[in-house]
Amino acid sequence: MSGLFAVASKQNCAEMLIYGTDYHAHMGSEYGGLAVLGQDFARFIHRMNNANFRDKFFDSTKDFETNMGIGCVSDLEEQPVYIKSKVGEFCIVTSGRIVNVESLADEMMKDGVCFSEFSKFHVNSTELVARIIADEDTIENGIKKVFSKIKGSCSLLILTRQGIYVARDFFGRTALVLGKNEDSFAVCSETCSFSNLGYETIRDLNPGEIVLMNENGIKILDKGHNTKQVCSFLWIYTGFPASNYEGLNSEIIREKSGRLLAKRDKGIDADLVAGVPDSGLAHAVGYAMESGLPFRRPLVKYTPTYGRSYAPPTQHLRNITAKMKLVAIKEVINGNSLVLLEDSIVRGTQLKNFTVEKLWNAGAKAIHVRPACPPLMFPCIYANSTRTNSELVTRRAIKEIEGKDIEDVSEYLDHTTEKYAKMVDIIRKYLNITSLKYQILEDMIEAIGLPEKDLCTHCWNGKQCRGCSNEKI
Ligand code: SF4
Repeated sequence: MSGLFAVASKQNCAEMLIYGTDYHAHMGSEYGGLAVLGQDFARFIHRMNNANFRDKFFDSTKDFETNMGIGCVSDLEEQPVYIKSKVGEFCIVTSGRIVNVESLADEMMKDGVCFSEFSKFHVNSTELVARIIADEDTIENGIKKVFSKIKGSCSLLILTRQGIYVARDFFGRTALVLGKNEDSFAVCSETCSFSNLGYETIRDLNPGEIVLMNENGIKILDKGHNTKQVCSFLWIYTGFPASNYEGLNSEIIREKSGRLLAKRDKGIDADLVAGVPDSGLAHAVGYAMESGLPFRRPLVKYTPTYGRSYAPPTQHLRNITAKMKLVAIKEVINGNSLVLLEDSIVRGTQLKNFTVEKLWNAGAKAIHVRPACPPLMFPCIYANSTRTNSELVTRRAIKEIEGKDIEDVSEYLDHTTEKYAKMVDIIRKYLNITSLKYQILEDMIEAIGLPEKDLCTHCWNGKQCRGCSNEKI
């Protein structure tokens, strides 16, 4: 994953840029980067390793004065990338996932293009985007070329001497929102970055929209369109509770999702409702409000140092983070039957080894797990996830039922089928819990509140969304 922030101001905005980008730190834990324009362009990139973004950047930029800058946090690659080309000098940051990065790079190398910025021995997709843009006659046309060439998703910010080009992914899978305060304009992936910095939201960019932002205002270069497939996971899991996407607040949607789960769970015998911190908490609040059971906190996160457990890049680091960050409170757990809301279950190993086990060890009488989305059946092919089929606990359960890996899993997608029930029961046994009931897709979509056609639901139903090959809309 990755998150973007930019500001163009009548005043020095270096500090604003750092704080604004810092509010995106939950979107990536590997790299942080800033580019600013003073007399010249300057670029700062740090390996984050779960360190504090602010600490890393305040030292290196404390003497810098600028009235325009872009920032990002990213899991995949080092950015910003700086390019000097026939369309001028620019620094660029991107978010999303370009699936065909290697084939596009091969094509371009045949035409003599060179790549210098590699991430983990792969072509850096931000550099690829930069070079596609640099090859066109204008930056705007370059961005349109990027949209026409890539498969996957790409939102981007480009810092130039004329202002900051802002473009939202052609299918709106990732968010970009415009804001303003007294003397500046800003854009962000996460609107939680706006409120404490005094920005009010202007609006979400349309899918495919391109604007040029400077300290005097925002000029629309291409208004984009209304066909969108926004990542549903933004509201259910990856987004910050205080953030809005398409004007819809994550916390409120999580509460609704929890309420809908509770409605289908009438008569459950439990003493308390809890959420796996942090993203399970609002789902649990909603469940508690609907069921009338008390919301309590048997597990608390040691917030000063631990980020999200899925964000670290290796399994070993994910395990350490998962083990250390949650601390069980025996006094809340002992002798109680718990309903435990979790945002989603990917591999299941962390939930089993580092959450459920802690609850049993602290004396839980029963553990009823309620994931806030349906079983994850397909890896993400549009945003920024490294999941593979074989990592998904659902696929492992299906393999156990079928005796082999199968391509067509359609029977397992329907929550009313016997095969679905069998799969869920295998996962329940694997997790070592009393009961397991997933959110159903219809209720998740109802909780989000957008029409299904405007959402990407590929993770759950495998629908090859429009834009998989960015065909014309
Ligand atoms: S495939 Fe899943 S994670 Fe990826 S954009 Fe679609 S809903 Fe989001």
